[in-house]
Amino acid sequence: MVVEIISVGTELLMGSILNTNAQHIAKKLAHMGLDAYYQTVVGDNPERLRAALDIAYTRADCVITTGGLGPTKDDLTKEMLISYFDCTPVEDPEALRRLETRAAKRGVPLSESMRKQATVPAGAIVLQNENGTAPGVIIEHGGRACIMLPGPPKEMKPMFETACDVFLRGKSDKVFVSMNVKLYTMAEKGLPVGESPVADRLGTLVDGQNPTVATYAKEDGVLVRVTAAAPSTEEARELLAPILAATREAIGDDYIRYVEED
Ligand code: ATP
Ligand code: MG
Repeated sequence: MVVEIISVGTELLMGSILNTNAQHIAKKLAHMGLDAYYQTVVGDNPERLRAALDIAYTRADCVITTGGLGPTKDDLTKEMLISYFDCTPVEDPEALRRLETRAAKRGVPLSESMRKQATVPAGAIVLQNENGTAPGVIIEHGGRACIMLPGPPKEMKPMFETACDVFLRGKSDKVFVSMNVKLYTMAEKGLPVGESPVADRLGTLVDGQNPTVATYAKEDGVLVRVTAAAPSTEEARELLAPILAATREAIGDDYIRYVEED
């Protein structure tokens, strides 16, 4: 399954906050063996969110959104998706109960804007929010899926784990395991100073399809990432071991600062 991340929020677009949600999700998707080829950031604007969805569904089966599930006027992700998939809005009793309990604890009546957070598309999987107010939602419609998660990372992260358990993990038939080999750059010792001398040492190892061996230039050195894909973690580790050993040998152990699982 191909997944695409759409991060919703004008704050992101303006550079006021860093898009750590997309980073978190992208990393997890990679580990799960789910393909993700594009990410989009869009402001709190319904037309532009619709346009972003239109584009995303030309190249992905599942869109994961973060942000815009809260009670305020600019929180429009869920309303937009309900309209996008032409779903019937219904009130989720459990989400409503939680909102009511929260309001009662504060000794205030449940306001209309707070209550709207309990509205979900009929037939959706509801992801209750253990760390905030807005529930997340998974819609599956005509072969396309959308997982909507709240913006605050402390709410989004645990909810994403639930979404993996109830939906995403079943869609992947492989897992990825990566090992990072970090190299010193010490020119005076004749050690590799950049990506290309390292790539030269690695020779045809970088042409492998599975495991793949890739080099990344870092400010303080070079990172070589060896990644294997297999139906299980154990099989991926088995596939990875000989190529990791060959990589170490090709580089020379002297130059290696550390080797660790990603
Ligand atoms: P809330 O109920 O808090 O309004 P929400 O689901 O409506 O949640 P937003 O209003 O879009 O989410 O964002 C709320 C806050 O979450 C932002 O002010 C920001 O601190 C954080 N946030 C939102 N999106 C991201 C992101 N992509 N990466 C990191 N933090 C984010
Ligand atoms: Mg909000």
